Amino acid sequence: MGRELKRVPMDFDYPIGKVWYGYYNKYFNFCHSEYSAGCDGCKAYAKIKGIPLNIYVNGDEGCPEFDEYYNLPDMSEKVEPPKGDGYQLWETTSEGSPSSPVFETLDKLCEWCEVNATTFADFKATKEEWIQMLSDGFVHHKQDNMIFI
Ligand SMILES: [Zn+2]
Repeated sequence: MGRELKRVPMDFDYPIGKVWYGYYNKYFNFCHSEYSAGCDGCKAYAKIKGIPLNIYVNGDEGCPEFDEYYNLPDMSEKVEPPKGDGYQLWETTSEGSPSSPVFETLDKLCEWCEVNATTFADFKATKEEWIQMLSDGFVHHKQDNMIFI
């Protein structure tokens, strides 16, 4: 069960539970420009991956030319979230997504984790245990001598 601590900006507002677009190593089917309405996911993905949006003559931003950028070598590289002063719990079992709000201190994050987060299946940990685990760089559930990660 992968969990890790990330330092992100305090105003980092990527949705909890949503895979960080920077971790996708290829173009998913975000783009629905053919329906003309809302392509926010596709634009957010492009921004994170550094793919320029199309700018129309009237100044509106349009979907990127994914086909042009899809094959660039750096498209396959992971783009980490921005770094900052905040503390956030991430799950890394899937591609990786935020799983807590952003907190000012490790202490506050661990207080939140004690109540809201699990270490393994339904197992919980105390604030002190969370501080220890996140300081050690990984989250585990300890039962007798067995450690689940
Ligand atoms: Zn689009």
